[in-house]
Amino acid sequence: MHDLTDLYQTVILDHNRRPRNYRVLPTANRVGSGNNPLCGDEVTIYVELDGDRIKDVTFQGSGCAISQASASLMTLNLKGRTIPEAEAIAGDVLKLITSGDVKDDEFSDLSALAGVHQFPARIKCATLSWHAALNAVHGEPAPATTEKTSD
Ligand code: ZN
Repeated sequence: MHDLTDLYQTVILDHNRRPRNYRVLPTANRVGSGNNPLCGDEVTIYVELDGDRIKDVTFQGSGCAISQASASLMTLNLKGRTIPEAEAIAGDVLKLITSGDVKDDEFSDLSALAGVHQFPARIKCATLSWHAALNAVHGEPAPATTEKTSD
C-alpha cells in the first residue's frame, strides 16, 4: 500500500525546490497564462508545437508550492505528446486532483497530485497550470483563471 501523503510531500517539495523546465522558451509558438487570485498563484506556459506534437514545454510563475510543483510535473508529462494525448493526460490529472482516486498501475510522480484533494482549498492551485497548458495548446488567448466571472 502506497502512502499517498508521504509521496505527496516528497514530490511537491522536490518540484517546488527544483522546478523542472522553469524558463522562457525562445522557440515557443504558443503561450498560455493562468492565475488563481484566491491564492495569488500565477503561471505562464510556453509551448513549442510541431504539427500536433508538443515538442517542448516550459513554464515560469510564482505562487505556492503546489502551484509551482504541479506546473513542473505538467511540463515533464506533456513534453513530446500529441495534442490528443496531452488532452487525455490533462483530463486524467484534473480528475485525479479533484477526486484523489489513484489507480495503482498509474502510480507515478503525477499521482502525488492526488494528495491535493485532502486540501480542497488547494485544488485550484494544482489545476491552474494544466488549464493554462491546454489554453496554450489550443491557442486560447484569454488567461485561464480559477475564478469564473459569473456562475
Ligand atoms: Zn496556490
